[in-house]
Amino acid sequence: MNACILTTADQPHCTRTGVVEVVDLSGQRAWGCPTHAIRALRTVEGARIVRDLRKEGEQR
Ligand SMILES: [Zn+2]
Repeated sequence: MNACILTTADQPHCTRTGVVEVVDLSGQRAWGCPTHAIRALRTVEGARIVRDLRKEGEQR
């Protein structure tokens, strides 16, 4: 399982599972929990979701 790594320096380390993969304009990808992924989309210019394991789970 991927761990959420989308916390910023002023936040405590997130221990939740990363289920959403976000990519920024430079092409760098990172897994995050839903809460931090949405925050990253708001704060990182050009960021978008490339994978959402929750949605993939619903399709099976
Ligand atoms: Zn998180």
